[in-house]
Amino acid sequence: MNGKEVNKLKMEIVEAGKRMLHKGLVIGASGNISIRISGEDKIVITPSQIKYDKIGVNDIVVVDFKKNVLEGDRSPSVETGMHIGVYETRPDVGAIVHTHSVYASAIASLGKTIPPFLDDIVLMLGGEIEVAEYGMPGSKELAENAVRALGKKNAVLLANHGSLSCGKNLEGAFVNAELVERVAKIFILSSLLGKPKNLPQEVVQLEQQIFEL
Ligand SMILES: [Zn+2]
Repeated sequence: MNGKEVNKLKMEIVEAGKRMLHKGLVIGASGNISIRISGEDKIVITPSQIKYDKIGVNDIVVVDFKKNVLEGDRSPSVETGMHIGVYETRPDVGAIVHTHSVYASAIASLGKTIPPFLDDIVLMLGGEIEVAEYGMPGSKELAENAVRALGKKNAVLLANHGSLSCGKNLEGAFVNAELVERVAKIFILSSLLGKPKNLPQEVVQLEQQIFEL
């Protein structure tokens, strides 16, 4: 990928960061976004500790899979290892959005999963949204637990922390991050009225096959 193309990815991340902030999926500098540089063991990722409304293209960092900084003066996100872990195990993933959104974090703080009670959960995210065991922010444990609990799906909750969503490209990962927050909210609301009913098992299996396509 040439410099101009990498620059375009950086601009996409800057724009998505502002959108993530304005949609209330994060506050300040929390959460992070990355895109895989296709065909190379490298990613473009948000910097550490800079607020999204202050991030410019030159603040976005390029790192390789060994976490060496190749471009940018800033430190890469503290969760760079978690992002790399997903890219290494999931060749289909082109972008990742990690948020601290309210409803997803509320469920994650109970150590609960979001069951397949809506079609979108299976069709777009791959099924029940698992919760990764706790690991401290930036730790190897968090990265390993997140990769394991994510499996082949497009989203995972992170215990006592937030959620991680992925997709073929940034737009896909972003929509999935919004969807996680939306279904988390619906799950909480319907749980207040009773016990949400899961989709029939055969529908889950059928929709999982559609998801895998
Ligand atoms: Zn986080």
